[in-house]
Amino acid sequence: MNIVIFGPPGAGKGTQSSYLIHNFNLFQLSTGDLLRDELKSKSALASEIESLMNAGKLVSDTIINNLIEKKLSDVSIANRIIFDGFPRNIEQAKTLDSLLSKYSQSISLVLNLKVDYSVLTKRISGRVSCSVCKKTFNEFFDPPVSCENSKCADRVLNKRSDDNVETVSKRLKTYDESTLPILGYYSSKNIVKDVDAMEDIESVSKQISSIIKDLKR
Ligand code: AMP
Repeated sequence: MNIVIFGPPGAGKGTQSSYLIHNFNLFQLSTGDLLRDELKSKSALASEIESLMNAGKLVSDTIINNLIEKKLSDVSIANRIIFDGFPRNIEQAKTLDSLLSKYSQSISLVLNLKVDYSVLTKRISGRVSCSVCKKTFNEFFDPPVSCENSKCADRVLNKRSDDNVETVSKRLKTYDESTLPILGYYSSKNIVKDVDAMEDIESVSKQISSIIKDLKR
């Protein structure tokens, strides 16, 4: 089962994806993470990507689609992908459909994480993650206690360069203009399920879990 986890920045897509990969043996494909890996190369392309990300804008579809196709051709993760942060516009949604059909796959479910924009700025600007296991914490709502993994003893808490108040409002604008229309595209295929993402992390995971179990019945 391939799933798209959908929602504005700060809705909890990454957090809920971590839950899904452990409980349903899925593979998280986050285009944001793939891009952040790309930034480490310090190439000319990397600096172009970095300035777009820090401006809260979308990186070009060509770059994204190349990154995605590399993963879709990997048979070891076929039909168990959770798409996090992708697709980000209608064009990408259509490309995803044709790439999936090329590899004899499809999207079974779009989880629509619904959250009031008023809480997003605090969720995003308080976000930090463990440098070792990548677990996410929030300085306001979920303070960074020690991680479960003993290897994380020497961790550093990382903050994303685009997780600041100024960039957040630009990212939300981009979301409204380019990303939100995808919901109509997927609704017409009857694969969207709404999730109340205002609740705490565990309650949101429970909602998601019951949606997936219902679908598998
Ligand atoms: P995320 O980690 O999903 O919040 O993404 C961080 C930033 O990476 C976004 O604000 C965009 O600049 C860029 N990005 C991530 N995914 C995509 C995508 N599918 N298409 C275009 N840009 C993306």
